[in-house]
Amino acid sequence: MNTIVDFHTHRTDATAALIAVDPRRFDPQPGKWYSVGFHPWDDVDMLTVGDFDLLRQCATHPQVLAVGETGMDRLRGGDLVEQEAAFVRHLQLARDLGKPVVVHNVRATREILDARNRAGLDDVTLVIHGMRGNAHVARTLLDAGCYLSYGPRFNAAALQATPPDRLLIETDDSDIPITDVATQVARTLTLTTPAVMQLVTSNAQRLLFPLIPQ
Ligand SMILES: [Zn+2]
Repeated sequence: MNTIVDFHTHRTDATAALIAVDPRRFDPQPGKWYSVGFHPWDDVDMLTVGDFDLLRQCATHPQVLAVGETGMDRLRGGDLVEQEAAFVRHLQLARDLGKPVVVHNVRATREILDARNRAGLDDVTLVIHGMRGNAHVARTLLDAGCYLSYGPRFNAAALQATPPDRLLIETDDSDIPITDVATQVARTLTLTTPAVMQLVTSNAQRLLFPLIPQ
């Protein structure tokens, strides 16, 4: 019932998945799990107090297990200062609710970690989704306590540098089945596909359902 294999998807019909939605389109369906946030590509400089009130309201819904997708993108979206302001508001909300944050990071590793630190929110757990950085980037993020979620495209050395208990997998906006992602990850780690599926499920369980005994 609580099983989550696919840690990040935008497909609202996905099962065993954490479905990322904009709070303005939040329409929870029975048996599904969500994260809510304003994507950094979506004019975050235009967000109003009312939008953030709506975000908070949606984020407290019992089927919402994380905040996001939020984050920073050096190549797309508005001004980085505006992106940071919106990102920090997501972090504050996550801290208040005790939920992790699904983070979009495009060439902004330092900015993301510095923003969290400057806001005094280092205890908020970040899951870097769609992890494509190299092993050096992976180690920087891991040292900062982040979980790393890998999709269909990833850097093999980064994946190999990721401890088993910080590993997650996802489909994001692709139509690739999550089992195919698990198989690619398994091949790189010389594990079996079922072993990877089991590992990421138990990591997601620990992160998202902390009050439910495993
Ligand atoms: Zn996404």
